[in-house]
Parts: sequence; structure tokens; C-alpha cells
Amino acid sequence: MDLQLNGKLALVSGSTAGIGYAIASTLAREGASVIVNGRTQAAVDEAVERMRAETHGTVHGYAADLSQADAAKELVHQHAGISILVNNLGIFEPKAFEDIPDQDWLHFFDVNVLSGVRLARLVLPEMKRLNWGRIIFISSESAVQIPTEMIHYGMTKTAQLAVSRGLAEAVAGTGITVNSVLPGPTKSRGVGDFVEGMARASDKSLDQIEAEFFDHVRPTSLIKRFGTPQEVASLVAYVASPLASATTGAALRVDGGVIKSAF
Ligand code: NAD
Repeated sequence: MDLQLNGKLALVSGSTAGIGYAIASTLAREGASVIVNGRTQAAVDEAVERMRAETHGTVHGYAADLSQADAAKELVHQHAGISILVNNLGIFEPKAFEDIPDQDWLHFFDVNVLSGVRLARLVLPEMKRLNWGRIIFISSESAVQIPTEMIHYGMTKTAQLAVSRGLAEAVAGTGITVNSVLPGPTKSRGVGDFVEGMARASDKSLDQIEAEFFDHVRPTSLIKRFGTPQEVASLVAYVASPLASATTGAALRVDGGVIKSAF
């Protein structure tokens, strides 16, 4: 299938590793020009070089913390014509409810929600001018099944669903679609590091930790394993394509069946 992404310019926030890297490289392989973003110049340079070698695509780099308003503004100023925005960057941290101070709630909202809201606001005028655009929020199964071990994270992922549905309605009747994608537990770099840390601390193998995770922490998973960043990226690449023109205002799951509902 030709995803018809040639000539499109895509920004994937937080794309030097993990799900973001897989999304950006898939879009590049499919013919889009992509902007890879991370917080340090060294990480961005390394990711850009690797992605160019792997995809032979057009890959730009932009090192900045995109949860900062000025950085987001500057990026959009420097790279005119972004017509695919993937709001991927996000942080998580297991913490008991009683231990989450006000500043953590605000920080999580700022990084996981407001960063994407701001970027969407910045790219929307150009998308309206083109009468074409794709805005995709990388939310989580945690938007629906709020993890008790990090309620503040769950709050931000639910908020993304509200923003994406509301924005899809606000641009109704145009060629712009807005969707959210809900990965399940996915072996990204962040999650991989976390699992390896647990394995070291408990003297268990990675396979044992994974099996226990799906027995006790996410027992509703139907695939009984972590998803891969590429599995998420494949869905995102389709949603980013002109072929997905009738898919908008939706919360699309690539969660291994963790959410215990058919729709
Ligand atoms: P990750 O930690 O492996 O990678 C995140 C990337 O974002 C890194 O390149 C990091 O440097 C970058 N980043 C973080 N904060 C940034 C900032 N302020 N500015 C610029 N770059 C920043 O993360 P991941 O697991 O791939 O997660 C990506 C997205 O997927 C997140 O929104 C997360 O909530 C969501 N998600 C992940 C999982 C999972 O199990 N991995 C499940 C559901 C949803």
C-alpha cells in the first residue's frame, strides 16, 4: 500500500528514542520529510544520522525541550509547512497518590498535555491554509484504565483524548483530521530501562519480569507481552496518511487488547 506521504513535512516530538523514533523513521521510510526532536543536540544528531542511514529519507533535527513555549514557537518558525504533527513526547513516573505534590501534577500537565496543545495551535494556521493536516496525540491505554500507581500520568492521557476530540470537532468539514492513538505497555527505551531496573533489583530475568507484569499488573492484556514501538508506528503512519481521511475524532487503540472493551 502506498501511504502517499511524499512531500509531506512531519514533526514528531520526542523522537530520538522509543515510540517517537519508530514513528518518525516509519514516516521517513514512507516518503515524508521528518523533523526529529529530543532535548540534547547529541541525542538528536545521533538519531538523525541513524534514521538517514536506515531510511534513506529526508530527516531534519531539532534539539529543544518542546514543553517550553519559546522552543515550540521557534521550531514552527524555522520549519514552515508542517502538515503532520505527532505529539509523542511524554513522561511517566510511578508514585503513590499521597506522595504526588502540586508541582508534579502541574509539571505532568505541562509536559504531557500543554506541549501538544501548544504545537497544535502553532501548526493549525498552516494546515488550514493547505486545507490538509494530521494531528495525532500519542495518548495511552492509561487514559481509560487509570493506573493507580501514577494517577497524575493517567490524568494527562485522558486530557489528551478530550483535546483531540474537541479539536477534531473544531476543524470539522476541513481536510484536517485529529485523532489520538492509545498504545498499551510498549517496550520503548523508557519502559525497557524500567523493566531492566526491576530485573536487576529482584535478581529475575527479563522474561520473568515481563510474565509477572502481565499476570499481575496488566492481566487484561490479550497479547501477554509488551508491544513494540514499530507496532504503534504502523498505526500512526496509516492515520497520518491521506488514505485515513475518514478517520477523525477517534481514540485508536494499539494496546494489545488491554482495555477490556470492544469499542
Ligand atoms: P521514551 O522515554 O522511550 O522516549 C521519549 C522520547 O521523548 C525520548 O526521546 C526523550 O528524550 C523525549 N522527550 C521527553 N521529554 C521531552 C521534552 N520535554 N522535549 C523533547 N523531547 C522529550 O518514551 P516512550 O515510552 O516511547 O513514550 C512515548 C509516548 O508514548 C509518551 O507520550 C507515552 O506516554 C506514550 N505511551 C508509552 C507507552 C509505553 O509503554 N512505552 C504506553 C502508552 C503510551
